[in-house]
Amino acid sequence: MMEALLKHLVDITCQRDHTLLDSSVVTALHELVGAQQVRVHELFRFRDELFVRPRVWIKDGVVVSVEENLASDNTGEALAKYPALVDSIRDRKSCVEEVSASGDRTLWLPVWLNDKVSCCMEVVNPTPYNSSTLHMMEGILSVYRNYQNILDYSERDSLTGLLNRKTFDEKFSRLLSTAVPEGHPQDQPERRHAHSNVGHWLAVVDIDHFKKVNDQFGHLYGDEVLILVANLLRSSFRAQDRVFRFGGEEFVVLLRSTTLEDARKIFERFRTNVEKHDFPQVGRVTVSLGFASIATESPVMILGHADQALYYAKANGRNRVCYYDELVQSGELHSEVSNDTVEFF
Ligand code: GH3
Ligand code: MG
Ligand code: MG
Repeated sequence: MMEALLKHLVDITCQRDHTLLDSSVVTALHELVGAQQVRVHELFRFRDELFVRPRVWIKDGVVVSVEENLASDNTGEALAKYPALVDSIRDRKSCVEEVSASGDRTLWLPVWLNDKVSCCMEVVNPTPYNSSTLHMMEGILSVYRNYQNILDYSERDSLTGLLNRKTFDEKFSRLLSTAVPEGHPQDQPERRHAHSNVGHWLAVVDIDHFKKVNDQFGHLYGDEVLILVANLLRSSFRAQDRVFRFGGEEFVVLLRSTTLEDARKIFERFRTNVEKHDFPQVGRVTVSLGFASIATESPVMILGHADQALYYAKANGRNRVCYYDELVQSGELHSEVSNDTVEFF
């Protein structure tokens, strides 16, 4: 038993990726507890409601993961559908057991980190769990939580807490390789707007005249502005979108599964949120934003397009949102004739 436990702990702590970490924890619980089914659920907030969706699970000995991809923005289920889980979170418990009508026992184990739950384990078994098994599970979950914390630390920027550039580089090409072309028929519940030109969008955001903020108020106030803009970014986009700090005062937003019209509205709303915000001491701050559609091009090309739109916004008054394709169509920008992305390097 001790040996098996150590083997799993070694396995859990050698992972460098959230999905692999999830898989090794699910496997450990499955094997050590002899559970019938184990799942990791992600908990997230959307429009002030909490949702839950399975991320990785094991069934009949096989690990299945929902690879994060552009097309699969399944919205999950309302957390309210799982009363036992709701109770465990409300009462800040680390474990709640639920017995179904058929006698199956489901354990809900929320993973707490700094007073917040970001995910939870679901363990299903036909027989009751004894106290030493429960202890062991809680121990494994503590290791899992600590390790998630370390992974987050390496994926995020320390000033703003947003995902960092390294993570963007790793994630973006992986996401693109799974992107479904527009209009592709799918059976997703999400396809409310089945008919339309739903796509994915990449925006580059840059704070206007940020150097002046630093020069006039000092670096500490500059940093404060960066943190506040990051907060405005977080609150302006949905759970399935991704926000990165790309460097300095530049941010990248990945907007999933929206129409062009909605994307423009969402970006405009963010721009106005910044414009209206009263920054302590500094007062008014504005941002410029350039965006491009994520179609079949390479990551470098897409980023290049969004960047070109951003530069256009900078050169034409700042505090505005510009869309690459539109600028090209109206002749304001010229799309470079490129045979391959190699030239960009
Ligand atoms: P523009 O409107 O054209 O974007 O002008 P700008 O002044 O914002 O652009 P520029 O790129 O010339 O200046 C960016 C400045 O951001 C320069 C650098 O000192 C500052 N900066 C970069 N990273 C940080 C940071 O982490 N903290 C602070 N306080 N300043 C930073
Ligand atoms: Mg700037
Ligand atoms: Mg800049």
